[in-house]
Amino acid sequence: MRLQFAGQRVLAVMAHPDDLELLCAGTLARACQDGAAVAVCVVCRGDRGGLPPGIAGPDQLAALRRQEAEAALRLLSAEAELFWLDVPDSQAADTHSLRQKLLGVLRRFRPRLLVTHDVNDYHADHRATAQLAQAASWMAASPGQQDGQEPLPCPPELWLADTVLGLDFQPHFYIDITDHLELKRRMLQCHRSQLARAEEAGFSDLDHLLVQQARWRGAQSGVPAAEAFRTLPRWKRLAAW
Ligand SMILES: [Zn+2]
Repeated sequence: MRLQFAGQRVLAVMAHPDDLELLCAGTLARACQDGAAVAVCVVCRGDRGGLPPGIAGPDQLAALRRQEAEAALRLLSAEAELFWLDVPDSQAADTHSLRQKLLGVLRRFRPRLLVTHDVNDYHADHRATAQLAQAASWMAASPGQQDGQEPLPCPPELWLADTVLGLDFQPHFYIDITDHLELKRRMLQCHRSQLARAEEAGFSDLDHLLVQQARWRGAQSGVPAAEAFRTLPRWKRLAAW
């Protein structure tokens, strides 16, 4: 069975500026190809990685990473919207103020499908983003939560994206991204400040990681390349396709 995203509104809520590329950009490319409206909300500024040459501090790094994320998203779609919660790296948390901020994004874009991290992913910002997105997307449909915008008619369906390297993640389903793997790689190439860190001790070759993960998720599901997801088996968070 091949899911069709036509008519959908898909929002990916990711912790850091390059998480989209590693975990779900192929699926968003599929959604765009089908005619869905697509947006991305990045929680953290990406301001605490190693400083590339010519970058003086966290504010300059955050500005550079914003440019990189914008360039990557333009490859995906000229119409795709990009939202930022502007949280310093390693400070993502499921707090009241961030719930309100994300609620505002949700009511503005009005997704029917929300893609976010799995609660078991490796980075504390990813785990916090998963909790934050679950909470805010529930609240966004509550008329009691007033922010001057119309509440969503119902909480969006929720998909939890694969963890980095698939650790502690048992997929519920796969999306065939064979036709979009090269776009996913080109989007990752926009994040030059991160790719430049491949030689740093403890850092990874992100392109290699991206391709490997797409290939073995594809092998598991009988296609050349795939992304893996879980649904959230909770009341009002599932939908029939
Ligand atoms: Zn991340």
